[in-house]
Amino acid sequence: MKFALINNEKAEATKGSKGVCPICGSELISKCGELKIHHWSHKGKRNCDPWWENETEWHRSWKEKFPVDWQEVIHYDQNGEKHIADIKTNNGWVIEFQHSFLNPEERRARNAFYGKPIWVVDGTRRKRDIEQFSKTLNSSKPFGSNVKVWRVHSDECVLLREWEDSNTPIFFDFGGDTLWWLLDGSSKGMVYVTSIPRIYFIEVHCVGEKQKIDAFNDFVKDVRNLIKGYESSRSQFRRM
Ligand SMILES: [Zn+2]
Repeated sequence: MKFALINNEKAEATKGSKGVCPICGSELISKCGELKIHHWSHKGKRNCDPWWENETEWHRSWKEKFPVDWQEVIHYDQNGEKHIADIKTNNGWVIEFQHSFLNPEERRARNAFYGKPIWVVDGTRRKRDIEQFSKTLNSSKPFGSNVKVWRVHSDECVLLREWEDSNTPIFFDFGGDTLWWLLDGSSKGMVYVTSIPRIYFIEVHCVGEKQKIDAFNDFVKDVRNLIKGYESSRSQFRRM
């Protein structure tokens, strides 16, 4: 974890310091070695939150794009179950950064627990993912002019297959300036994707300017209309 509590305040790990786990209240030890990012660790090996994924630099650099208050926020459901959300914005959006494989059952549990979380998925973990994704994208012609949407087969791209039935906003991060958004409304085997600049994704949450949010909502509307238009022209074509 990036944060422990020291005197009830969120604190980052520094050499030799001790803190308290915000979830279970047990003691945390700071780990400030040379190799891994500095973090807090439970005395026993395991983190008390079974959903917690060991942080990579990728996780950390994403979290740090957002205000400290939004990072590692405990989220409760009505039954008192609690987990640490990577990011919870002041509009109540939960953003989860997923590096490792997540089995569909656990993903469904997390989707239900957080409401409609936004997933940002590390597309650089497996080398083949970017290759498969690019190949899939290149096999299809996008529609739209300013805003472009691709309708692609997911069968040759493991990453798309893993996430296509999630029904929550999913963004693949392949390390560039662009995030690829797997749009819900996709059906199994056939999915819609579009791209947005990474900086745009962050600004929409962080800057909170009405202008930026309106522009983003317009973008989403354009994407939805494009898909709708595309679907209806396809069904007309089928009726001919
Ligand atoms: Zn704990």
